[in-house]
Amino acid sequence: SFNADAVPQAPEDALFGLMAAFRRDEDPKKVDLGIGAYRDNNAKPWVLPVVKRADEILRKDPNLNHEYLPIAGLPDFISASQKLILGADSPALKEKRITSLQTISGTGAVHLGALFLSKFYNPTTERKVYFSDPTWPNHFQIFSNVGLSSQTYPYFSKQTKGLDFEGMIGSLQNAAEGSIVVLHACAHNPTGVDPTQEQWKEIAKVIREKKHFPFFDTAYQGFASGDLAKDGWAIRYFIEQGFETCIAQSYAKNFGLYGERAGCFHFITSPSSDAESTVSRVASQLAILQRSEISNPPAYGARIASLVLNDKELFAEWEANLRTMSGRIIDMRKALRSKLEEMDTPGKWNHITEQIGMFSFTGLTEEQVLKLREDSHVYMTKNGRISMAGLNTNNIEYFAKAVDSAVR
Ligand code: PLP
Repeated sequence: SFNADAVPQAPEDALFGLMAAFRRDEDPKKVDLGIGAYRDNNAKPWVLPVVKRADEILRKDPNLNHEYLPIAGLPDFISASQKLILGADSPALKEKRITSLQTISGTGAVHLGALFLSKFYNPTTERKVYFSDPTWPNHFQIFSNVGLSSQTYPYFSKQTKGLDFEGMIGSLQNAAEGSIVVLHACAHNPTGVDPTQEQWKEIAKVIREKKHFPFFDTAYQGFASGDLAKDGWAIRYFIEQGFETCIAQSYAKNFGLYGERAGCFHFITSPSSDAESTVSRVASQLAILQRSEISNPPAYGARIASLVLNDKELFAEWEANLRTMSGRIIDMRKALRSKLEEMDTPGKWNHITEQIGMFSFTGLTEEQVLKLREDSHVYMTKNGRISMAGLNTNNIEYFAKAVDSAVR
């Protein structure tokens, strides 16, 4: 019989635990650099103006109801999501080599992909999934939940605070043929370090040689450079090269739709005379998995995103909103670096402006991170990651001084 008394205590989620500690802190100077959510210059959540507009349009629609979406989700949202990530003129779209389902944001898309692979990816071999070291910690849990065992490839160089390119390539070369390789499409979480286009080409070469399966996770399109096409470059390159791949796409950060859980999962097969039939079989299996897990996805966030993605004028406004967010983050990177350099804070700080996207891997040690929390009420993850969006013109000086005294 089941004895619930025997269920062991699980550790608290590190990031959500950090958020709770921040909320409990009553010091008015406290700074939250933990969670990966955009904040405006007043440290407040920002509803994108284009999302407000779309919301008003939706609310005025007399035909709006709360019926179920189809199992695969909202069709206009799905087709717009394909074009957004692949580019409207993608060969995969023209050749009908793609099938997509709306998911519970990026997490749901990673999960659906992992579940699908656990059932159908080379089921007779010992399968390994490779993640960057470090990666978004949830990757490990999601893949282990579906019974796939994970390994890591080197990614972050502690010396340069940039990419350990040789380490990464060497590890992918040594991995068992046909491994699943999870890649962050842009604005790598937690490091803010992305391969260059030349490096991506080398990565693609090894993945092809070793017959690995590339699995892209894209949670920050538009956040890295502010340019949607540029941020989709790596994925588009792999598709052009004819790879079979899948993509987990999140709208949490780039639309600020965090809690609405809007996302998409895409499976793209290689060019072949059989491609259309392959994707239709894959689609049929994905539909069964989706039905058994969530039945059908939530409507509201997808409706908002769909309105914006399918309307030229709203889309242009969204791009402007993205530039506001990525631009403010870039300004904060510059300001932080120059303040630390002005104070002659020990260490080098060029990586602060060289890293991109929402996060910076500062290189602060766990001890320094704890000191910052205790002495200065600054909250960041133990690995030294800061969410740049938590910095603003009111707290950046305070934060720079706190870092300065923590490392001296
Ligand atoms: N993948 C990465 C790398 C992330 O950083 C995140 C969010 O932090 C996600 C996926 C999924 O986020 P969500 O489920 O909120 O879309």
